Amino acid sequence: MRYGILADIHGNLEALDAVLAHLHDAGASAYLCLGDIVGYGADPNACCERLRALRAQCVVGNHDLAALGAFDLSWMNPLARAAVEWTAHQLSPENRAFLRSLPEEGDGPGFQFVHGSLVEPTTAYITHSFAARASLELQHAPVCFVGHTHVPALYARRRGGVLVGRLAFAAGQRVVLEPGRQYLANCGAVGQPRDGNPDAACGLFDADTGTLTRYRVPYDIDTAQAKIRAAGLPFWLAERLTQGA
Ligand code: ZN
Repeated sequence: MRYGILADIHGNLEALDAVLAHLHDAGASAYLCLGDIVGYGADPNACCERLRALRAQCVVGNHDLAALGAFDLSWMNPLARAAVEWTAHQLSPENRAFLRSLPEEGDGPGFQFVHGSLVEPTTAYITHSFAARASLELQHAPVCFVGHTHVPALYARRRGGVLVGRLAFAAGQRVVLEPGRQYLANCGAVGQPRDGNPDAACGLFDADTGTLTRYRVPYDIDTAQAKIRAAGLPFWLAERLTQGA
């Protein structure tokens, strides 16, 4: 079974559709979504509907909770808050119910997944080895997928033991997951990359061969930006898509 890994879609339908086409061509037959389906982008309903149609296995992110009124907005920066308030008004009752149904943690054969970290599933950021180690200490599966930082990263430790550290994880590089290790992988953000590369990011986990590949996929940024501006969302939310910031 090949799983497409989707994180931080953030209401960007053009990025989501490009990534889904790419993963389909790469042989994905199931999809994991690591939360933040909505917030920032102009298509929160359509993105929820894509995931529902695919029967993607999803967990909830902090922006999803915020759009449901289940997360304290004072923790968010003004741009994120403006987008969350707009999104909350847009969501259909069906999509609100869908987001409300999502758990904080998901798993399957040989993997776990959360939005942020196993330490605090919806809020903690894994931006360095120390935070990775704390999450790996709570991990039982060989690999755990996370999002939330919008920046790709791969960490490993010896099974039940010491941290090996941060590993090379270039786009297009197929990483063989060694049986004696546990991995923590962030394949990047679909809808709002923040690593200086504007292309949409996603991953493919092949459970049969024990391999993981992350990808960058160009998409129609102009249309996503035009929709953000037309919706009256903050201008920077459109601008940052070109910068990958
Ligand atoms: Zn996010």
